[in-house]
Amino acid sequence: MANTEPEAPPSLYEAREPIFPRRVSGKFRNLKWAIMIVTLGIYYITPWIRWDRGPSLPDQAVLIDLANRRFFFFWIEIWPHEFYFIAGLLVMAGLGLFLFTSALGRVWCGYACPQTVWTDLYILVERWIEGDRNARLRLHRQKKLDFRKARLRVTKWVSWFLIGLATGGAWVFYFADAPTLARDLFTLDAHPVAYITVLVLTLTTFLFGGFAREQICIYACPWPRIQAAMLDEDSLVVGYREWRGEPRGKHRKGEGAEELGDCIDCMACVNVCPMGIDIRDGQQLECITCALCIDACDDVMERIGKPRGLIDYMALTDETRERAGHPPKPVWQHVFRPRTILYTVLWALVGVGLIVALFVRSDIGLTVAPVRNPTYVTMSDGAIRNTYDVRLRNKHGEERMFNLAVKGDPSLRLQIEGTPYSAVPVPADSTLQQRVYVTAPARSGPAMSERVDIRIWVEDNANGDRVYKDTIFNGKGN
Ligand code: SF4
Ligand code: SF4
Repeated sequence: MANTEPEAPPSLYEAREPIFPRRVSGKFRNLKWAIMIVTLGIYYITPWIRWDRGPSLPDQAVLIDLANRRFFFFWIEIWPHEFYFIAGLLVMAGLGLFLFTSALGRVWCGYACPQTVWTDLYILVERWIEGDRNARLRLHRQKKLDFRKARLRVTKWVSWFLIGLATGGAWVFYFADAPTLARDLFTLDAHPVAYITVLVLTLTTFLFGGFAREQICIYACPWPRIQAAMLDEDSLVVGYREWRGEPRGKHRKGEGAEELGDCIDCMACVNVCPMGIDIRDGQQLECITCALCIDACDDVMERIGKPRGLIDYMALTDETRERAGHPPKPVWQHVFRPRTILYTVLWALVGVGLIVALFVRSDIGLTVAPVRNPTYVTMSDGAIRNTYDVRLRNKHGEERMFNLAVKGDPSLRLQIEGTPYSAVPVPADSTLQQRVYVTAPARSGPAMSERVDIRIWVEDNANGDRVYKDTIFNGKGN
C-alpha cells in the first residue's frame, strides 16, 4: 500500500551562520575608520564639553534637561513651547536621508549608522583578540572548550561589555550634569532610572554589536525597505561589472584562462563583507554599501595586473551605458539631478527657516488663557471684570521686571493679582504663572458688548523688548 503520509513543509526558519569578515585595507576602509573615530569621538566627548551660561544655568554645552523641560545646545536654549525647532531638525534629518539615499544609496547604513559603527568597533576588538578571519573560523569550529578558547572568549566578551557600558554611560550624561552624574553613579547615589538606562543600553549594545550584527540591519531595521523607494536608476550603489568579470574562474595557464573574465573567483569580496553576501549575485537588500568589497577586489585586481573597479560604485544607467560600449556618467551627474536638487532646496529652506526663527525669537515669552468659568464678573459698581491666566517666560540669565498692559479700548484697565503695580518680577530663566484681571467700567463700550478683541502686552523694563497675545474680553451685552 502506498505511503499517504504528507510531506512536512520546508522550514521557514534558517539558523544564522556566523560571519567572520576578513581584514581589508583601502580608501573606503580608511574613510570608514575616519568616520568611526569622528562619530564615536563626538558621542563620548560631547557631554563633557562645558559652556558658561552664567550662574543660574547649567554649564554643560549639550544637555537635555528633562527636569526643567529645557534643551541646551551650546548658545541655543530651546524651551518646551519651541518644540518646532526639534520638529524642524527632525524634518531636516529626514530630508537629508532622502537626499543622500537618492544620490549615494545606503551611504548612511554603510558609514554612519550607529549599528554599523559599533559593529565595526566590535569586529575590530574581536580581530585584535582572536585574530583575523581564518583564526576566528578555526576557533568557532573548535568544539572543545580548552583554556585558550575560554580565555579568548572571556577577554572578548568582557571587552565588548566594557564598550557597551561606556556607550550606555555616555548616553545618560546627555540628560544630567556629566561630572556630577558620573560621581553619583560611582558612589551609588544616582537615581535608579540612570542605572536602569545604563544597564539597558549596555546590554543592547553588547547584544546588537556582538551577536545580532547584520541581523539587526536585515530583520529589525525598517530602513532597507524604505530606501528601496528612495533609489532610482541614477542612484550610486555598489555593484559588480559582471560583463567584465564573467565567466569567472582561476586564471591558470593552459586551462583556458584567456576565455575567462577578470574575476578570478578568489572570494576576497565575499570574505570581507560584514553582511556575508556575494555582490556578484547582484544588488541585494542586505548590502549596506559599505564598499569594503570594492577595496578587497581593487587589491586583487592590482595584484593580477588588471584595472581596478571590477566592483565599484555605479548606477543602473552606468551599467546600460557600459554594456553598450560607452563610458559611465561622471559622478557629479549622478549627484546633481532634479530629484536631489529638489531635496537640497527643501532641506535648505527648512534650515534657513529655523535659523531665521532662532534669530527673531524674543527673550521673553507670553501665553494668555482666559478663565471661562465664569466668562465675566459684575462688580459692585457695575464694572465688568474678566480673568486671565498668564504665563510669563524670562529667558534671560537674570531676574527681569515685566510690565503688563492691555490695549483694545481706552476704558479697559489691567490689574495684576497680588500687587498694586503694573509690573511683576520674573526670576532668571524661568516661567511665572500669574493671574491678571481686565476691567471695563459700567456702561462702557466693552462692558455693553458681547465680546471685544483685546491685546495683552508684556514689556521687559530693562531693554524695552515687547511681546503680545491677542485674546477676547467678554462683556454682558445690551
Ligand atoms: S556587498 Fe560589499 S558593499 Fe555590500 S555590504 Fe558587502 S562588502 Fe559592503
Ligand atoms: S574579489 Fe574580485 S576577483 Fe575576487 S571573487 Fe570578488 S569580484 Fe572576483
